[in-house]
Amino acid sequence: MAKLFYRYAAMNSGKSTQLLQIANNYESMGKQVALYTAQIDNRYGEGVITSRLNIQRAALTFSADTRFEADRHAGIACILIDEAQFLTPEQVRQLHRIAHLDNIPVICFGLRSDFRGEPFPGAAWLLSLAEDVEEIKTICPCGRKATMHIRTDDSGRRVNEGPQVEIGGEARYRAVCAKCFYRGE
Ligand SMILES: [Zn+2]
Repeated sequence: MAKLFYRYAAMNSGKSTQLLQIANNYESMGKQVALYTAQIDNRYGEGVITSRLNIQRAALTFSADTRFEADRHAGIACILIDEAQFLTPEQVRQLHRIAHLDNIPVICFGLRSDFRGEPFPGAAWLLSLAEDVEEIKTICPCGRKATMHIRTDDSGRRVNEGPQVEIGGEARYRAVCAKCFYRGE
């Protein structure tokens, strides 16, 4: 039986690399996948998933208005979603239904919390509904496991306020452990 998967991490963890690797594995078996990324994320141009290893793939985009319905996925062996923290709770529900009623595995990659340490609604729902949840591990500069991330300004100073979603790139974020997050280092 298919399941809903959530692979979460802090920023800069190589999530997109893992996603593209899974897509590749399916395709090497002659199977088709559906790739999605958030429309909000225009780091590398709309509808493209780019890994840090500089591999790029065109992807469908989702916005808050997108309905994930099974009939759009006829012949698809797996649905892969990058930047899944931007899914709405209702979209997470749709994807959960597709996994269980239509037997298509749905693998979501995304963040758990934002730069203030607050949950993304999509992530909170994925953590509640996904049957298979796994952390992609990243290391803080201090050597501990990074579980959170901070946002910095152009001069590298930490920013504590601002919108949850900021278009502008991973260069503005650093993955840190909780201790460094609260100490502000
Ligand atoms: Zn640390």
